[in-house]
Amino acid sequence: MYFGLKKTMIKPKTKNKIKPVNYDLYLEYHCPDCGISHWLTLRESQTKGFKVVCVCDCVFGVKRINDIYIKYARKKSDIKPEAKDNSTKDLLDKDNLYRKCIATLSQYSFSEEEIGDIVKNTIDSDESSAIVDIVKACITKFGEKNNA
Ligand SMILES: [Zn+2]
Repeated sequence: MYFGLKKTMIKPKTKNKIKPVNYDLYLEYHCPDCGISHWLTLRESQTKGFKVVCVCDCVFGVKRINDIYIKYARKKSDIKPEAKDNSTKDLLDKDNLYRKCIATLSQYSFSEEEIGDIVKNTIDSDESSAIVDIVKACITKFGEKNNA
């Protein structure tokens, strides 16, 4: 019997390292009144105006998430300056730039909720990577959008 089993055994074939095709992500929040846990899907955390109704009757919104990036682990030999992965660096720079622009715009009473998408689009359009230029462009676009 064992001989027969051995013949039909599939020999594992090594494939290249593959990347995920989808993800499933939950985020934990604590009710500000009673502290109970609430798990939201990423989609819920990205939804404008999403509200959680707690068992203690507290209703609260969550800070809206714009995007989540995957950062793959790299071998030490890949992190040498000449072997930099530009696409990853680009994403990190854009993320950093986004945060700085939102921080600057919040000083002029713009909330991330109302201007976040404009900032993201302006950074993605690559008009400039100077914060002052992006902030000016965002305020102009925000004005155009709201006076249209
Ligand atoms: Zn509660």
